[in-house]
Amino acid sequence: MQTMEPKGATGQAELLKNLRTAGGAYAMFIDGQWGAAADGGTRELVNPANGDVIAKVAEGSQADAERAIQAAHDAFYKGPWGESNAQDRAKLLFRLADKIDEHAAELSRMETLNNGKPLRETEYDMADAANCFRYYGGLATKPSGQTFDVPAASQTMVVREPIGVCGQIIPWNYPLLMAAWKLAPALAAGNTCVLKPAELTPLTALRLATFFEELELPKGVVNIVLGAGPVVGHAIAASPLVDKVAFTGGTKTGRSIMQAATGNLKKISLELGGKSPNIVFADADFDTAVDYALFGIFANAGQVCSAGSRLLVQDSLHDKLLPRLVERAKKIRVGDGFDPQTEMGPIISRAHQEKVEAYIRAGIEEGATLECGGQRPPGELGEKGNFIEPTIFSHTKPGMKIVQEEIFGPVLVVQRFKDEAEAIALANDTIYGLAGGVFTNDIAKAHRVIRKLRAGITWINTYHPTYNEAPWGGYKQSGIGRELGTHGYDAYTEVKQINVNLAVEPSGWFS
Ligand code: NAD
Repeated sequence: MQTMEPKGATGQAELLKNLRTAGGAYAMFIDGQWGAAADGGTRELVNPANGDVIAKVAEGSQADAERAIQAAHDAFYKGPWGESNAQDRAKLLFRLADKIDEHAAELSRMETLNNGKPLRETEYDMADAANCFRYYGGLATKPSGQTFDVPAASQTMVVREPIGVCGQIIPWNYPLLMAAWKLAPALAAGNTCVLKPAELTPLTALRLATFFEELELPKGVVNIVLGAGPVVGHAIAASPLVDKVAFTGGTKTGRSIMQAATGNLKKISLELGGKSPNIVFADADFDTAVDYALFGIFANAGQVCSAGSRLLVQDSLHDKLLPRLVERAKKIRVGDGFDPQTEMGPIISRAHQEKVEAYIRAGIEEGATLECGGQRPPGELGEKGNFIEPTIFSHTKPGMKIVQEEIFGPVLVVQRFKDEAEAIALANDTIYGLAGGVFTNDIAKAHRVIRKLRAGITWINTYHPTYNEAPWGGYKQSGIGRELGTHGYDAYTEVKQINVNLAVEPSGWFS
């Protein structure tokens, strides 16, 4: 196996040499300072491709979360950031984007080491993260207000202002990219941030903090606090000093964050799970549909909120498409993300691997047909790493657990439909509404179906490509609010109306 993996402890230490340490572990970034957890807590990070311990990081507690929140609060209400203008913030975001580009090779290798996904995916993610900062750098200085022609001698205008302290809680499937989606619009709009990376994948966010330090971001504007979700994440969601909480993660966690946020009625945005339908009509371009069906579910080993995890195939095409799909899925090369031959990496953790495997068992018990996969790969790969082979179920029924629940792994369930109406009914038949795709050569039919799809992100004759320019988010239990694009910027602002009396004299309302 050809590999660029950093060799052993020395190679890993070399890759991570730009991270700061404190108390024998990689440190958190709070109030412009690097430090250990208040109680000295640490956590070991594991390479999901081989089970090796790759790093020890600070594991914060409630006290660390509170310190970070206080720092962000002081930075917003007392620090120079509150007086910053859009041009200053734009300049900062552009420079940050350049730093990510300059260090893209280091960052993508760090991400592959920590998350396991193939280098070609992490390289793409780093470029996307840089572009996200660049996009919001550009947006910061663009017009955002309104004026109205109103009766009486009044001038009425609407301005957008930052919300204040933003708590931002992110998952492990796109560690740096999710940090960019949160920090870029928040900073562009002038907020201060407390970012909590997923406990399993904090390394690239810590490296990002070193860039903030080099760019002399005022202290407390961005704080990176590490720790468990129910401890540090909950403290952020519940804090009366946090004005907004933005969360990306599971729907169950989203519910608990929403509850925790009620104390001070903080603004919330939730980007949650999905069980997205990818609908293939008989008149679709066959090879394109097969190709994107595979990409839709097996990219990032299916650990994508918008994964096309349900493939809806029209009856007359089903028996032709399924064998082709299975044949190609079996050829996907599963392996270490550093191996240039690898096409699909590991599952993030042993615990998550076991959860995915429990779903595979449930599918078999429910009577679906396991067409391929369902196993760990043979040999060392399967023993040491958290791999599952690309898995496809056919002969499913709409009520099955594997059809209804988000598996968040490389497991595709195939459903059949007879006509447009049945495709739409099946597509909408889950609690989720994040994404969906349609493959057909009939453009009018494609649009009819998309219109009926209760989902926030949709594709025609493609699956997965999305852009910083367009809003991201879900219908139904896939979330609340939108990230990215101008919608994502607006979600980090308060709206204020200003009415100016142009005839300054008493109104005479009360004689
Ligand atoms: P998760 O909900 O377990 O964790 C996400 C984050 O929330 C982590 O940082 C975690 O530490 C924190 N957290 C956990 N419990 C918490 C609590 N009680 N209070 C506050 N914070 C808490 O999700 P995950 O397993 O890391 O990620 C997978 C999920 O994320 C999937 O459901 C996936 O669909 C979803 N996701 C959604 C999007 C989207 O944009 N809609 C993007 C990526 C991932």
